[in-house]
Amino acid sequence: MSYIKVVLKSGKDQSLRRFHPWVFSGAIKKMYGEPAEGDIVSVFDNKNEFLGLGHYQIGSIAVRIVSFTEVEVNDQFWEDKIRKAYQLRVDQGLVDDETTNAYRLVHAEGDNMPGLIIDMYDDTAVVQMHSVGMFLIKDTIDEILKKIFGDQLKAIYNKSESTIPYKAKVNPENGYTFGKSETRIALENGLKFRVDWEKGQKTGFFVDQRDNRALLEKYSKGKSVLNMFCYTGGFSFYAMRGGAKLVHSVDSSERAIELTKENVELNYPGDERHDAFAVDAFKYLDDIKDQYDLIILDPPAFAKHNNVLNNALQGYKRLNAKAFEQIKPGGIIFTFSCSQVVSKDAFRKTVFSAAAKSGRNVRILNQLTQPADHPVNIYHPEGEYLKGLVLYVE
Ligand code: SAH
Repeated sequence: MSYIKVVLKSGKDQSLRRFHPWVFSGAIKKMYGEPAEGDIVSVFDNKNEFLGLGHYQIGSIAVRIVSFTEVEVNDQFWEDKIRKAYQLRVDQGLVDDETTNAYRLVHAEGDNMPGLIIDMYDDTAVVQMHSVGMFLIKDTIDEILKKIFGDQLKAIYNKSESTIPYKAKVNPENGYTFGKSETRIALENGLKFRVDWEKGQKTGFFVDQRDNRALLEKYSKGKSVLNMFCYTGGFSFYAMRGGAKLVHSVDSSERAIELTKENVELNYPGDERHDAFAVDAFKYLDDIKDQYDLIILDPPAFAKHNNVLNNALQGYKRLNAKAFEQIKPGGIIFTFSCSQVVSKDAFRKTVFSAAAKSGRNVRILNQLTQPADHPVNIYHPEGEYLKGLVLYVE
């Protein structure tokens, strides 16, 4: 099989030589033919040395590399990759675990498959493509999943409608591509939660906070807990199991508050320690005084692009400053950023300046990140998107 050849400008081969998987459109000198979006192309430096094979797409990232060696990109190629990703989760103890059946099977660049996310919720796989190339091989991916999981897999739901560029004209529609699943209750560390992959954000649940929720549980005993940006209430029901004396969940979305209430009810029916409010976080934090001794701040990505980075950092600063100013002495803050464009350093500096503004003595107790089923490709540091700090505020 020969692929259309893409030649890079002089000096633009450096990042690929360091195994970074993206080719920006500005790095391309010449293409020998007109690849269609989603085609595999073969990338060379300007001295005609092979660099890699990847999916072509119109946009700022023109090629997403899927192999740094010259191979045939066929069904077997994809099966080998997905099997490797599966084996990694087996090795992490996530497959056939009796207390956790929600995990990420494929984490895009982190599993050397740029553009592909697959989350498992019990017997259902939720597949989300972020590149045209991955979307075009969706049937192959479905067949591979059926082969790997056999009877254990009851349904595959494809959720790529809003993640593929609309100009690509491949018309992705959300829906089942195999079976239909009735199971909507998944398990995480023995706690139950309802997943709504059809209407919910992302693939339905934020599986990336699993380890951090487990840590929060340990800090919760006897505490008054405020879970800001609660979405489906993940942190809230862990705090309750940890023995919190009161848990308040806040999200601006009414639907999120409903889901949180439902999930708390699933785990702790009739428990009066919990209450939930649909209000804006910034407004809510204006006047909480010192009623809480544990606050979780897990906002949505304030910055999706580099050009709004400064505004995003101001947002994080304002948010954290409000918590620092009011939390009870001896209180604990779990603060996060899930923006890929906000580096670990930038996040820490922002939280630092928010702390300084309050004038309080603040210490870092834990430094948090994403769990092992969201691996970071060492050559693609942008993949480390989730950053968190556990802070002790005197
Ligand atoms: N902590 C959650 C995930 C948070 S996702 C978990 O563990 O699953 C971010 C949430 O922030 C979304 O549910 C969104 O509705 C909410 N949100 C966005 N802007 C907000 C605002 N200004 N005030 C309150 N909530 C907001």
